[in-house]
Amino acid sequence: MRPALLNPLFAPVTSLPGVGPKQEKLLRYLLSRDDTPRLVDLLLHLPVSVIDRRTRPKIRDAVPGTVVTLEVTVDRHRPVPPRHPRAPHLVYASDDTGDVVLTYFRAAKDYVEKLLPVGAKRYVSGTAQMFDGTLQIVHPDRVVDAEGFARLPAIDPVYPLTVGLAIGSLRRAVAQALLKLPELPEWISPELLRKSQFPPLAEALNRVHAPVEPTDILPDGRYWSRLAFDELLAGQLALALVRAQLRRPAGERNTGDGELRRRIIDALPYALTDSQAQALAAITADLRQPLRMLRLLQGDVGSGKTVVALLAAAAVTEAGKQAALMAPTEILARQHLKTIAPLAERAGIRAAILTSREKGKERREILERLAQGDIDLLIGTHALIQDEVEFKALALAVVDEQHRFGVRERLALTRKGDAVDVLVLSATPIPRTLVLSYFGDMDISELRDKPAGRQPIDTRTVPNSRLNEVIDAVGRALSAGRLVYWICPLVEPSETVKLADAQARFDSLRQRFGDRVGLVHGKMRGPEKDRVMAQFSAGEIGLLVATTVVEVGVDVPAASIMVIENAERFGLSQLHQLRGRIGRGAEASTCLLLYREPLNEMSTARLKVIRETTDGFRIAEEDLKLRGEGDVLGIRQSGLPDYRIARLETHGGLVATARDEALRILKDNPKLEGETGEALRCLLYLYERDEAVPLIGAG
Ligand code: ADP
Ligand code: MG
Repeated sequence: MRPALLNPLFAPVTSLPGVGPKQEKLLRYLLSRDDTPRLVDLLLHLPVSVIDRRTRPKIRDAVPGTVVTLEVTVDRHRPVPPRHPRAPHLVYASDDTGDVVLTYFRAAKDYVEKLLPVGAKRYVSGTAQMFDGTLQIVHPDRVVDAEGFARLPAIDPVYPLTVGLAIGSLRRAVAQALLKLPELPEWISPELLRKSQFPPLAEALNRVHAPVEPTDILPDGRYWSRLAFDELLAGQLALALVRAQLRRPAGERNTGDGELRRRIIDALPYALTDSQAQALAAITADLRQPLRMLRLLQGDVGSGKTVVALLAAAAVTEAGKQAALMAPTEILARQHLKTIAPLAERAGIRAAILTSREKGKERREILERLAQGDIDLLIGTHALIQDEVEFKALALAVVDEQHRFGVRERLALTRKGDAVDVLVLSATPIPRTLVLSYFGDMDISELRDKPAGRQPIDTRTVPNSRLNEVIDAVGRALSAGRLVYWICPLVEPSETVKLADAQARFDSLRQRFGDRVGLVHGKMRGPEKDRVMAQFSAGEIGLLVATTVVEVGVDVPAASIMVIENAERFGLSQLHQLRGRIGRGAEASTCLLLYREPLNEMSTARLKVIRETTDGFRIAEEDLKLRGEGDVLGIRQSGLPDYRIARLETHGGLVATARDEALRILKDNPKLEGETGEALRCLLYLYERDEAVPLIGAG
């Protein structure tokens, strides 16, 4: 139960004066909430910049492009001319050094005339611009008289907004929310407070939302940092609680006599690489331990993680228990099943799949067999963590491409059994700070060597202007019986961004190559996608136009050519993942990166890295250098709710402190008792890490 103390902060924003249904909808969108945002969501929405009204130049000295506050006299109005309803309402004003035009689009005439009466003195602030040689302010941010100006804060925060939401109404809502801030106990220890110089929470919130100095809102300043630290501490404490529970003696061992593993290895058409064998040994050692496993299996695309996961599942089946393999997309889950099913069958492991597509009777049957223990390995998507999914004896949870899932989802899966061992698969080498911030800590196995017989990929960059040559080359490849991927960034044409669009490209390639061309994209229905993928896999289609749905994991070894359109639009890791779909068979492979000219510096650097190396570890390092940590894993794009305030590039240094503090807390006070315990529970609830609260003191 949430401490009652926090209730005011979890009241809906609609309880604030002036926030009606229309504002609610805008705030919901702005704060990315599925339901009505709460006061806490508003308070954790931090400013991006400030308006500093202490800058009060004369009109002559106002610098275009900067935010200024001018003291002016209103000279005359030019309302919207009847014959040009879209023209703005202009207000001419001046001081003793020059003129300024205040411009209002789509504003009611009465409103503007009342706001700026002719002859009156007004203080007007906003961004100054030069237009037709005259200084202009479009939609001034504030317009007040002398009395109002005296009451105005010298510095106003500027927030990220959404279309239709006025800065003024957001500011008012935040100010109201600040008034509701209850007095909360301090959860940071006195020693750490002293060392870090963090201000109290209330001061931090007040200073970022009502800055006294422009620097008060900087992410690396002490106010924001305090909030970031709180968020990180809540995260680390939750992870430490999970970890403490993971590390509790599991009692039973989750591995058998090795018989099933041997049968699978015998049935493989290849030998395991050394690092696959080592990873498997480490995993089976973990499974034998009376401690629970939390292991990351890290290996570049194509390094063969799936078979290691299958062998881990086999070990668990030997012990009479069940395993689950959760993948981020439906295509990937189906492909896992396709790879795994024949091997599993040979060994006598009963594998099944569960995604949103299994419905009705089929679904009921799967769930029933699972609950009775008649399924040994269940492969699936997010569908696996739904409440209705019950295992008889889940002992191993494998999470593929882990960065697509949040802590909450991993926890939900492991809760479906007792003392579940966890194996996380990742193609992207994860920097240490990130491992710490997302997992607390974990053991790591790496697949460094690639399976034998892999052909190098020849990667080239080609400007769009040579598209026709590329199409000719693809035609020759098709005639020679080769399989070609053609990747486009978007599904539907967008007016704003002129990107190659999969549907349009499919249409044009089809005109040229007829029914040898297929199309898959994320908006297609599942069975439809499968059908096309299967046709491509079987060579019935030679050229597959696709969006990034093929990015993770798709395995068609015979495909040996890939064209990527608008390659400059993709992230490095994404390009690497995409390219990893080829170079899997016996044939030498080619990857053509088409780009739109001119390339900016960043894109040039990125494409150069991709051209020069296929080493995923190096690419990840370069990516980190070029883009900063959060983006490498696609964490920002995937919009995980994990961190709202903390930014790894700014507060990365605080992660280790937060982790040490969390570990110390759990050592000194594992059940979070007493006053400090209460305070820490408040923290967990405030940052909604309360999914860990039931774990407090468990085991
Ligand atoms: P990833 O690590 O990207 O998930 P996969 O598990 O999909 O890679 O494996 C990629 C391909 O390599 C598959 O076709 C798989 O059958 C094959 N493979 C896996 N291990 C080996 C090996 N030791 N030798 C040869 N091929 C292998
Ligand atoms: Mg994979």
